[in-house]
Amino acid sequence: MYIRNTLSGQLEKFQPNEPGVVKMYVCGPTVYGLIHVGNARPVVVFDAFRRFLEYRGYRVILVQNFTDIDDKIINRAKEWGVDFSDVANTFIAEYWRDITALGVRAPNFAPKTSDFIPDMIEAIKKLIEKGYAYVSDGDVYFDVQKFPRYGELSHRSIEEMLVGARVDPSEKKRNPVDFALWKAAKPGEPSWDSPWGKGRPGWHIECSVMSTKLLGSTLDIHAGGEDLIFPHHENEKAQSEALTGERFVKYWMHNGMIRMTGDKMSKSVGNVFLLRNAIKKFGADALKLFFLSKHYRSPIDFLEETLEANVKAARRVREAFEKFESKFPEVRIPKNDQWMNDTRAAFVEALENDFNTPAALALIFDLVNELNKAMDEGNEEKALKVYHLLRREFCPTLGLFELPSQPRSDDVTEALIKTVIDIRSELRANKMYQLADLIRQKLSEIKIELRDTPSGTTYTFKEG
Ligand SMILES: [Zn+2]
Repeated sequence: MYIRNTLSGQLEKFQPNEPGVVKMYVCGPTVYGLIHVGNARPVVVFDAFRRFLEYRGYRVILVQNFTDIDDKIINRAKEWGVDFSDVANTFIAEYWRDITALGVRAPNFAPKTSDFIPDMIEAIKKLIEKGYAYVSDGDVYFDVQKFPRYGELSHRSIEEMLVGARVDPSEKKRNPVDFALWKAAKPGEPSWDSPWGKGRPGWHIECSVMSTKLLGSTLDIHAGGEDLIFPHHENEKAQSEALTGERFVKYWMHNGMIRMTGDKMSKSVGNVFLLRNAIKKFGADALKLFFLSKHYRSPIDFLEETLEANVKAARRVREAFEKFESKFPEVRIPKNDQWMNDTRAAFVEALENDFNTPAALALIFDLVNELNKAMDEGNEEKALKVYHLLRREFCPTLGLFELPSQPRSDDVTEALIKTVIDIRSELRANKMYQLADLIRQKLSEIKIELRDTPSGTTYTFKEG
C-alpha cells in the first residue's frame, strides 16, 4: 500500500512500526457547537480508511480527541451561565448523535483534554528542563529556534512564518513564532494548578500528550484536515519529538477542504451546512458517497446538484440490494472463484494507491450494473457473487449502506404539497372556487400558507 506522506510530499510504501498493527490518531472537534459538513469530511474519510486497513487484516487502534478547553467553549459557557464542562459534554453527546446518524464507527479511544491535564503539565515540565521551552510571567512557550526541524512538515522556514506571524501584545514571547504550551489563568476562566501558577494548557500540547500517552511515542498515522498542517501539526510534531527524541509520526495524511462558495444553497437555507441538516436533506449514504467521490486530498465543492446526483446514485444502489434481498431472503455464500478474486484485487489496488476512493466507487457502480443485469437475466449464481462482494465486502469497507434507509421527509412533504396545489389549480381552472378555498383553508390550519401569483401558486410555512 502506498500513502502520500505530507512530510515528504511523496508516495511512500506503508509499513507500520509493529507488523499487523496500525496506531492512528485523528484530531477531533472543539466541542462548542454542532458540527458542520466541513468537519464531517475527515470523519468519513478516515473512518473509511480505518475500515479498509481492517479489511486488509490490520488491527487498528484509533484515537480521536475532543478539545474541551478552549476560548470558544469558555465564551459560550459565560454566555449561557454554565460551567465549561457542561458546554463540552453537551456538544460531545450531540457529536455522537450526529456521527451515529452518519454511520461512522466510534474510535477506540476518545480522550478529552481535561482528563489529561497532569500529563500535560509533566510534558511541559520536561520541555522546560530540556531547554525547549521557557516560562514568561505565568505562561510557558515553546522556543521554536531550539528545534532545528521546525517547519519540516509544513515546508516553510521560520523566516517565512515570521512574515505571517501576528504579534499579540498580551503575549510575552521571545519570538513571534513561539507558541503557548501553558496559558496563565485570566479571571473567570477554568484553571488548574501548575508549577507556573494557575492556568490551562495550550491547544497543541493536548494532542501531543493524548496521542503519545495512548499510542506510544511513534504513531503510524496522524490524520486531519489540511488546515491543521500549520501551525497545529507542525507544533505537535516539534513538541513530541523534542520530548521523546523519537520520530512522532510515520505517515501524515491530510484531507482537502470543502468549498462552500457560489451556491444558492448557502443563501436559501444557510443552516443546511450543519451535518444533521445535511443528513436530513440528502441522507447519510449520499453524503458519504459525496465525500468519497473525490480523492481525499482534493478540495470538494458542496453543490446542491452534486449532492442530488449522489442521492440518485445511493438510491440506485439501495434499489438493487433491495431487489436482490426480496428475491433471495435467505443468507447464502457464493462459491469463490477467479472472477471474485480478480474483482477483489481491483478494489484493493484502487485503495492501496493512496486511498483512491473515486476509483473504488467506480468499480462499485459497475458492479451494481452487473448485479441488475444478472438479476434481469435470471443468473442467480452470478447475482449472488456480485451481491456478496458489494454488500458484505466493498460497501462495508467504505462504510456505505449499513444504516437502514430513511425516506427523505423533506422531499415527501414537498411532493405532497405540490400535488395538492396542482389539484387546487385544476379546481380553479374549472371554476370550482368553493373547493379550492376549502383546500387553502385546510392547509392554513396545518400552517401551510398558499399565495397565488401570476406565475403560479407558491407556499410558505407559517411560524409558530
Ligand atoms: Zn490535534
